[in-house]
Amino acid sequence: MLTIAVSKGRIYDEALPFLAEAGITPIDDPNTCRKLILQTTRADIQLVIIRATDVPTFVEYGAADLGIAGKDVLIEHGADCLYEPLDLNIARCKLMTAAAKDAPAPSGRIRVATKYVKTAQRYFAGLGIQAEIIKLYGSMELAPLVGLADCIVDLVDTGNTLRANGLEPRELIMRISSRLIVNKAAMKMKHQAVQSLINQFEQTLAAKNHDA
Ligand code: AMP
Repeated sequence: MLTIAVSKGRIYDEALPFLAEAGITPIDDPNTCRKLILQTTRADIQLVIIRATDVPTFVEYGAADLGIAGKDVLIEHGADCLYEPLDLNIARCKLMTAAAKDAPAPSGRIRVATKYVKTAQRYFAGLGIQAEIIKLYGSMELAPLVGLADCIVDLVDTGNTLRANGLEPRELIMRISSRLIVNKAAMKMKHQAVQSLINQFEQTLAAKNHDA
């Protein structure tokens, strides 16, 4: 039995075609049922539906053999303890700084609101900018509007969320996409099953690239 960890929402929706090509279709829809373990059309594969930020943890500890996680989450988690064999090129977006529209660039020590504390710390340190990082769990866009922070670090796709809140994107920190990750022990102990899944995902990826 192989267990694949995936989060609900954007990543799950875009991962479904990859899973389907490998003959894996969940029996239940996680959007309408409350099950956290989903059986699939392949008796040897089940999905666990968890928060995006928990996916690397489940895979690192072997509670799931594989997972699908955003590069943003992997970098913040520290992914040395995992294999990352494939960039699935799904759930693409950008990790960016953003600030109130037309606000002057702050000078001196700045305050940054984000859920990506380590990534933001590393980014500003790399630029030689002194930054106080304020950890938030959501609604980052509010922070500059109420004077909690000078800027935010968050994912941007269309930019609509920023615009709707009077913010604008500033610096690109990195381009993000979702990756297939594998538990190191599973890669050895269940090598054949894991490798055949990687190969199937790779074929789907190649076919998608060919069509594009
Ligand atoms: P947008 O308004 O299209 O720029 O999307 C921004 C909002 O969607 C922010 O709240 C982001 O945190 C979230 N978001 C955008 N892209 C992704 C992604 N690939 N994975 C998870 N969240 C995302």
